[in-house]
Amino acid sequence: MCGIVGYIGDGNAEKIVIEGLKKLEYRGYDSSGIAMNFGGKLAVEKRKGRITNLEEVLEKSDYPFENCHLAIGHTRWATHGAPSDINAHPHFSMDHRIAIVHNGIVENYLDIKEKLIKEHGIKFVSETDSEVIAQLLSVYYEGSLEDAMFRAISEMRGAYSICAIAADEPDKIVATRKDAPLLAGIGNGCNFLASDIPALLKHSREFYLIENGEVVVLDKNDIKIYNAEHKSVVRDVFHVSWDAASAEKDGYDHFMIKEIHEQPKGLTETLMRRLGDDNSIKLDGINLTKEDIDGFNKVYIVACGTAYHAGLIGKYAIEKFAKIPVEVDVASEFRYRDPFVDDKTLFIAISQSGETLDTLAALREAKKKGARIMSIVNVVGSSVARESDDVFYTWAGPEIAVASTKAYTTQLMCMYLVALYMGRVKGAIEDAYYNRLIEELKEIPSKLRKLLGTEHQIQDLAKTLYKTEQVFFIGRGTDSAVGLEGSLKLKEISYINSFAIAAGELKHGTIALIEKDTIVVALSTQDDLFEKMLSNIQEVKARGAFVIGVAKEGNTAIEQQSSHTIYIPKCMDEVAPILAVVPLQILAYYIAKERGCDIDKPKNLAKAVTVE
Ligand code: GLU
Repeated sequence: MCGIVGYIGDGNAEKIVIEGLKKLEYRGYDSSGIAMNFGGKLAVEKRKGRITNLEEVLEKSDYPFENCHLAIGHTRWATHGAPSDINAHPHFSMDHRIAIVHNGIVENYLDIKEKLIKEHGIKFVSETDSEVIAQLLSVYYEGSLEDAMFRAISEMRGAYSICAIAADEPDKIVATRKDAPLLAGIGNGCNFLASDIPALLKHSREFYLIENGEVVVLDKNDIKIYNAEHKSVVRDVFHVSWDAASAEKDGYDHFMIKEIHEQPKGLTETLMRRLGDDNSIKLDGINLTKEDIDGFNKVYIVACGTAYHAGLIGKYAIEKFAKIPVEVDVASEFRYRDPFVDDKTLFIAISQSGETLDTLAALREAKKKGARIMSIVNVVGSSVARESDDVFYTWAGPEIAVASTKAYTTQLMCMYLVALYMGRVKGAIEDAYYNRLIEELKEIPSKLRKLLGTEHQIQDLAKTLYKTEQVFFIGRGTDSAVGLEGSLKLKEISYINSFAIAAGELKHGTIALIEKDTIVVALSTQDDLFEKMLSNIQEVKARGAFVIGVAKEGNTAIEQQSSHTIYIPKCMDEVAPILAVVPLQILAYYIAKERGCDIDKPKNLAKAVTVE
């Protein structure tokens, strides 16, 4: 999830690496650092915060940069250990002869760490998983960094891209990857490494894409790629014709649509980090005992905006699977009431940034009243995470578009996992039902990929709808919560007045607004409520509405009632919200695009809301 840049050549390595890192900074990282080789002596500088903090240190230093022709740099998005100077990369081996930068997660780092401490007396200085890589390399180093790298990765599990340098090999950078991006940039009398193309576009448009399990060795004149069998391989050159702006978005027009497409990956990460082989849910780092769970008589979920909508689904899930009553509240309301919260309450705060001020204030309020605090956040080390007893991270990766998409669906995944975990520990859910639900969750990413394959149909629909000035979203059960999120997406990026309401509630007032050609999105993904929804659709159709039905594949009866139908893949009702929201995200995106809106930065909105 981080940014990596490496350079070897005759130029000023420090300058080139820092410039490259800055090209990645727009993604909002939490710290940065650089390792340089000054003719056989390694130097590392790293700082928490923005790259300018690092630059200030470098400017004040008396390093002879003109003699530095090899450097690796990193912008960190913390996963293990809060953002801090010490946890920032690069990491040194204990003897300071090897330095590394790492993107991703070493899943078995605790085992490796224990072994290194016991068998080699290694002393660790940071809380990161990444430091084990530097220490492992130094233990295996016998004069060839690539040999040490092959041995080290044979012991590591997880997803990573790694760049390493050794004091004793001042003419070489060695890198490798598994399930995290890495490419080598081809220069003239110099070569580059990076996790992302934008970091290098100023210097090169020709790249080698490194494959999983390969080790790449760079000197200033040559790039050698070795496969997992240590055999040299020949790779075609990848030419990039994108301009810098579209490269940042991997060729997508906006971050929002890129992030919509990143959802299968984020959901897989969020789920797999918590799932054991036997379908059990691992709450590593979360200390919720059976006694704790049995002791809760209420759950309070508090959040703002999109995260609040995730909380509404959380209520359905916890009440259904764990049989504990749940209240959901918007943070700005919760904090100014006198809510029934005490030491028997589990308080769950949800926030993408972990810096949402109202959510943080509500959390503090609940803490004062004695509640147990759990949070669901995307940013490691954020204020909400730090002030919680337990943190359930979403692994969506950095989200840049203001309108949240992948953070929302990964929040839903977390809510399901929390609910299923509590249900199982309490004995409130039957094993067979639990296992079916876990299997369903595992299938969500591939179903979502299939759904994303129908994007062009929704794009065509957007072309016929974009001039409208109002849209209604209706649904029953979890669909009514999904409707709220679909409505929020639409209004925040397209500025169309939209309104979501429980379908059964419509006739108690709001139906007065439905007239000929009013657009109504009718979410009908819940099998047990499907017929009731068909009746609600009839009600709006009778007033002339243009109905867009959203239903599961196979429920074709919706086609007779709707002017247009969007199908989501078949799934259990319980998990349908993760799929059902995606067409709404795509619809909002293309409508806003047709209207020429500034999609990633909608007017009047900010990504992290740190004011009341
Ligand atoms: N897991 C590493 C850490 O927390 C790397 C995170 C990243 O990819 O930036 O330091």
